[in-house]
Amino acid sequence: MSILVVGSVALDSVTTPFGEVKDVLGGSAIYASYAASFYSPVNLVGVVGKDFPEQYLALLKERKISLDGLQIEEGKTFRWSGYYEYDMNQAQSLCTELNVFSTFHPHIPEQYRSSQFVFLANIDPELQIEVLKQVKKPLLSILDTMNYWIHSKRQSLLKVISMVDLVLLNDNEARQLCNTPNLVKAAKTVLSYGPKIVIIKKGEHGSSMFTNSTVFSAPAYPLEMIYDPTGAGDAFAGGLIGHLAVSGDLSDNNIRRAVIAGSVMASFDVEDFSLNRLIRLTQEELYARYRAYRMLIHFDDQE
Ligand code: AMP
Repeated sequence: MSILVVGSVALDSVTTPFGEVKDVLGGSAIYASYAASFYSPVNLVGVVGKDFPEQYLALLKERKISLDGLQIEEGKTFRWSGYYEYDMNQAQSLCTELNVFSTFHPHIPEQYRSSQFVFLANIDPELQIEVLKQVKKPLLSILDTMNYWIHSKRQSLLKVISMVDLVLLNDNEARQLCNTPNLVKAAKTVLSYGPKIVIIKKGEHGSSMFTNSTVFSAPAYPLEMIYDPTGAGDAFAGGLIGHLAVSGDLSDNNIRRAVIAGSVMASFDVEDFSLNRLIRLTQEELYARYRAYRMLIHFDDQE
């Protein structure tokens, strides 16, 4: 089934203890679309400036990511720079240059409006609301955000949270949004705003999915080397929505499998800077790690 992804398309500059890159392909919508494209074609909506490298557009087209909704405007592409210290669970933002994003309004092409699976990747929550007003009610709508919007657009963020089915937050964002150090309480607070499912991502400590009656926790795939965590949350979202869209099955069991698909995708993303590892990733590697992951969490309750 069709997937619509709306979010940031960026040129990122990132420093980690293991290297640095400048003005490389990034953005929430890019990581999510690229990850989801391992499962299903993706319709991408976003904006770039005239400085956006042609080679990056070619890379997306090769993955069957439709760019009919990508606006190319006069001006500079959105830029984000950040760094990670040895504890790579938390990005420290150095600079966010909205550039063409400051005047952007998403226009959802007619042929995308009945997409069954919609991912509102991290962008201004007011723009996320504009997207929801343009699409027909999807089977599943998923929203991601970040501390930048929790602080600057809290009311709009609460409004859009009440309009979607599933909310993704990382642990610090959940604590900040809900004013509590306790993630179980934070998840319950977010559920009380309206969504049916909340997934809290905890970096190397995995993720937990909460509904009003269940909790499911998945560890992060154990890796010896993590080069750059940028985009892990979006790759997680892409794997999750891709898995759900390809099956069209929204049962609790299948959403649990989708959390694993998201965790596996995120584990590849962090193995290199920018999208480099996802670009090299093969379907065989993806399935092999999914199988290895199953062994990681498998246990028998009797001999
Ligand atoms: P993640 O590591 O999954 O949380 O997301 C990383 C991506 O988020 C980077 O590629 C950035 O370009 C993008 N990003 C950073 N700040 C913002 C923001 N304020 N709005 C939208 N996207 C952002």
